[in-house]
Amino acid sequence: MSPHDVVTTPPSGVSVALSGNLLADLGAQLRPDQLDVSDSGLDLHARGESWDVARRPDVVVYPESTDDVQRVIALAYATRTPVTPVAVNSSLGGHTVPIDGGISLDLTRMDRIVEIAADDFLAVVQPGVAYPRLNHALRATGLFFPVDPGAEASLGGMASTNASGTLAVRYGVTRDLVLGLEVVTPTGQVIRTGGRAPKSSSGYALTQLYCGAEGTLGVITELTLRLVPRPEAVMGARVAFADVRGCVDFVTEVIQSGMPVARCELLDAAAIRAIRQHLGLALPEVPTVFLEFHGDAPTVLAATELALALAAEHGAAAAEQATDPAALAALWHARHQAYYASVAVHPGMANVITDLAVPVSRLTEVIDASLAAVERNGVPGCLIGHVGDGNFHLNLFYPPDDHAAHDRVEAVYAEMVELALAVGGTCTGEHGVGLRKLEYVRAEHGDAVDVMWAVKDALDPAGIMNPGKKLPRR
Ligand SMILES: Cc1cc2nc3c(=O)[nH]c(=O)nc-3n(C[C@H](O)[C@H](O)[C@H](O)COP(=O)(O)OP(=O)(O)OC[C@H]3O[C@@H](n4cnc5c(N)ncnc54)[C@H](O)[C@@H]3O)c2cc1C
Repeated sequence: MSPHDVVTTPPSGVSVALSGNLLADLGAQLRPDQLDVSDSGLDLHARGESWDVARRPDVVVYPESTDDVQRVIALAYATRTPVTPVAVNSSLGGHTVPIDGGISLDLTRMDRIVEIAADDFLAVVQPGVAYPRLNHALRATGLFFPVDPGAEASLGGMASTNASGTLAVRYGVTRDLVLGLEVVTPTGQVIRTGGRAPKSSSGYALTQLYCGAEGTLGVITELTLRLVPRPEAVMGARVAFADVRGCVDFVTEVIQSGMPVARCELLDAAAIRAIRQHLGLALPEVPTVFLEFHGDAPTVLAATELALALAAEHGAAAAEQATDPAALAALWHARHQAYYASVAVHPGMANVITDLAVPVSRLTEVIDASLAAVERNGVPGCLIGHVGDGNFHLNLFYPPDDHAAHDRVEAVYAEMVELALAVGGTCTGEHGVGLRKLEYVRAEHGDAVDVMWAVKDALDPAGIMNPGKKLPRR
């Protein structure tokens, strides 16, 4: 489905406009302020970030407990009503658009930090807790939750997309940091997966299955999260090169050298220009690598010095160290604003954000070929990359009513995915599939898609959970 499609019929095959009875049944189970059928409420839940297709749900439901979720899902299962979970709605591929209508299940009111068990390095939270709030609550413990997607995302949404961010190169992705879950299954059962032990070989790895399922296999109602110690010392650096290739070659060497890299990000000149315009920062308008090292003080100092020496060897145009917290905060503020800055400097344009991940040794060739495709097709855009773990985004823009321009963006996208798959990479390193990448899933996974459908059919026999997302149509 392309952003130009107007959704008039249910694309996934699940039927049902919300029946009057279901609305009455929901009303019997929940307070009136937990149901919203107002125009503004339905409009607010009709679209996601970076995806043009809009489709209103028939009702927005705000559960406040696992019990509420369980009753809603039991009713939805009995009436074959589609359910689309949503939290902060910052996902970038139409994941939360209720393309078949039905219930938009808004989990933002389930926002309690249930427990912080610092001795066991874990926290238990409801799914609507945003990760910055958890980290704020952890500030006195010396621990933190290290996944940091740029948006103020919810931990339930992050588990469901297997989100990562700037720190994944050192601490792993969300899936690596979830010890256990409480889930309401698509048939209305409440189950627990995993536990509180740091490791387990028991049963099938259901926790890992639900992480990254994009709400297609059930609703996460509680998460037990692994926490990590705050590093004793942190140091950063900003290194600029005349071209992107110089940056990527430098990054590849930094990663391969085994330095304690905690963050390794790349912005091209267009992204830096957007940040300069949007935030008024005086950054040199050239491709720039943002680095951070975590560890003990001598180790991070040695790593920073080594990185700067390597940068000089690679002919860096400029290099600057960030040693104190204020300089580090300024450095990462610029990086975290890159997406919104690039959108802000393209007023009135629609955007498509790509999300390839490839083996680090193939990064230079894939980025080079991707930028060549962008140039050949005359598409405006910029590069924002978590290059330390082989992941990069091109944010590509087109006028929303210009079908030819949109087709050029899609052509670039398709070419990029082909490049990534040819070197053993993936069409999505962290954003997930949603609606955006459906057409690439079979090219990446082949017959394994049939096994994925078998899992989906077994766990969601009525096909009500976030229909039309994650797996290509059969
Ligand atoms: C500026 C910006 C920067 C970003 N940077 C990054 C980045 O660096 N790394 C990255 O990984 N992502 C990034 N993202 C994307 C986004 O923040 C992540 O995908 C995030 O995990 C989404 O969380 P959310 O709370 O917004 O979830 P939503 O968008 O509300 O939902 C995401 C998906 O999870 C499902 N879902 C939500 N809650 C539940 C639940 N409790 N149970 C079951 N399913 C559920 C939804 O159905 C949907 O499929 C960025 C987005 C923006 C706008």
